[in-house]
Amino acid sequence: MRRKFDFYIVPTPIGNISDITFRAIEVLKEVDIIACEDSRVTQKLLNHYDIKTKCISYHKYNEKERVDFMLNFIKEGKTVALVSDAGTPMICDPGSVLLSELKKNNIKVTSLPGACAVTTFLSQIPRDTEEFKFVGFLPKSEKQISDLYEENKYTNMVFYESPNRILKTLKTLQNKNQNIKIAIGRELSKMFEEIITDDIQNIIEHFSNSEIKGEFVCMTFAQEKTELADLKDKISKLKEKRFKSKEITEIVSTLYDVNKNDIKNLLY
Ligand code: SAM
Repeated sequence: MRRKFDFYIVPTPIGNISDITFRAIEVLKEVDIIACEDSRVTQKLLNHYDIKTKCISYHKYNEKERVDFMLNFIKEGKTVALVSDAGTPMICDPGSVLLSELKKNNIKVTSLPGACAVTTFLSQIPRDTEEFKFVGFLPKSEKQISDLYEENKYTNMVFYESPNRILKTLKTLQNKNQNIKIAIGRELSKMFEEIITDDIQNIIEHFSNSEIKGEFVCMTFAQEKTELADLKDKISKLKEKRFKSKEITEIVSTLYDVNKNDIKNLLY
């Protein structure tokens, strides 16, 4: 049967092999080729569902050189499905380079709904607001992580993290602000799935007591904005108690995570 589209973006399970749609299996069976990150990973899925379609590699190191091959292949009337090792392609996985070229060449592209660690995680974290910002994997240095948190502290910031970095990242965030509330989703849809929501100190203690394994999605909850009028009131009370300006600045900036210069402006 001739399919309606030339190129299909197909999500695959993020842990539990049953988390794939009937339509995804149908498409993977019917396309002419499957572009995958690691054929050993994808082949296990294909074997499980008795999918005989051939795979070619498509990963971040050969993205550019694969583009011409795919374009020519599709122009010959063939169809392609793109999958990643797990979850939705292009969510922290390759695909962007290829997709922008396909769009420039008016190739008919569609994406299938399906498994993704971000949505699986968020759909079981109660939040006061719908708003969130997904920042992918955090940058490497402590300064970059602190700056990113500073930029996003008033929104729910969602990120991916690896087991060998998670504890260091949590400690960096704690150094930035001790009052962060955080949610962690570990090993979603797998045997040892764990969801914890707690203050950052308790989460650090939780993970300090055992070897850290598995895959992680995390969210720092949005901080409440401290109103300026509120702060002025608190500063006046501290002044009445004869705290020195330097002490007031230290106390208020620690408790309410407000820039010290802003406090100095309110002091006089
Ligand atoms: N494309 C994938 C998706 O749709 O979620 C994400 C790929 S990214 C290279 C891999 C990262 O996603 C992992 O390091 C981890 O942070 C997160 N992740 C993937 N599967 C997960 C799971 N089952 N539980 C928690 N986090 C997961």
